[in-house]
Amino acid sequence: MTLSDLFLKFRYLLYVAVFGRYSKRPYHCQFQVTRRCNLRCRYCCVWRDEWGGELSLKEIELLAGNLRHSGLKSVVITGGEPLLRDDIVDVIGVFKRAGLIVRLQTNGILLTSELSSELFKAGLDDVYVSLDTLRAERFIKIAALRDDGAHQRLIENIKMLSSVAKRHRSGRFLLTVITPDNHDEVEELVSFAGRWGYLIGLYGVETSDTQKGDAEIRVSGALFRMKDNERLLLKRAFQKALMLKKKKGTPIFNSERLLKDYVEFYGLAKPDMHWHCRAGRHYLVVLPDGKVSVCNGTAPVKGYDYQNLPELYRRKDREDIFSHYRMNCSGCICTRQLEYLLFEPWDMVKKTLMYLGNL
Ligand code: SF4
Ligand code: SF4
Repeated sequence: MTLSDLFLKFRYLLYVAVFGRYSKRPYHCQFQVTRRCNLRCRYCCVWRDEWGGELSLKEIELLAGNLRHSGLKSVVITGGEPLLRDDIVDVIGVFKRAGLIVRLQTNGILLTSELSSELFKAGLDDVYVSLDTLRAERFIKIAALRDDGAHQRLIENIKMLSSVAKRHRSGRFLLTVITPDNHDEVEELVSFAGRWGYLIGLYGVETSDTQKGDAEIRVSGALFRMKDNERLLLKRAFQKALMLKKKKGTPIFNSERLLKDYVEFYGLAKPDMHWHCRAGRHYLVVLPDGKVSVCNGTAPVKGYDYQNLPELYRRKDREDIFSHYRMNCSGCICTRQLEYLLFEPWDMVKKTLMYLGNL
């Protein structure tokens, strides 16, 4: 990361903490560059869907420009597995040249040291790697994988990536989804993250009612049904995370408020995940074929895609459009963190210091 990258990031953090909540423009975009994936995680529905087409590099250039014209400051490239795109290095470069902060979320299996260096050289600011377990036999179960060596490779890749990212002064994060399969590993995962120079985000498995939307990224409640005793295990796992979060030097990146939300959520027999979100206004999702939705739990916005996105943000009635889609979702927990950043500047300051201290 160059000095000008650091300046860009500092300006972004300042904008989010001070002005973001007043802005009528979104600050953050999640771009699902593909829905293809080399894993089959039980709690995910991305790989279960048939999904039409993926944007070409040329089309992604148009998307990047339109994100910038619509006021966006940062993009996280997700999937499916983004590294399945042969042109992923070029994709990173396109967003970087458009002046966006570029993040990448990967399951880490396909990383190599050459590819990692190329990604950072192309302008990648932060990297997020999924790690749900430190135990190979559990990984095979969670990711429904037949490859016995994949977990070992993932762990080696995470260690390798840490030193490459550090050399490039880039942010590095592990992302863990807590499920009944790994609820007892919170402490081990947090200490692994700290040992290898990562910050770590812990998230709960969230299911959805697929009757309500047609772009769901979360698995339906029917496919991932949790028993009451399993919910209790997850509640305890997040209580443990909350306790670890209070320790000095913790690598846990979630805010205490988000962890408390999870404790409360898993403590209720019939939790309601709805909240007063501002999806669309503060953040949006671009799907692999270029359609746009207000978040990954809602259907695409009719009539808009990567080509005419700025027109959507010029419409005076756009809030009505966004609320229509917000009302037709199953609710969520994890997306709250995007708004907590806007409305809790102190949390933003703490996160910034953690981030800078870890570069
Ligand atoms: S959670 Fe991520 S790695 Fe797992 S199947 Fe879904 S997209 Fe792939
Ligand atoms: S509550 Fe808001 S952010 Fe969460 S899934 Fe619904 S529309 Fe999306």
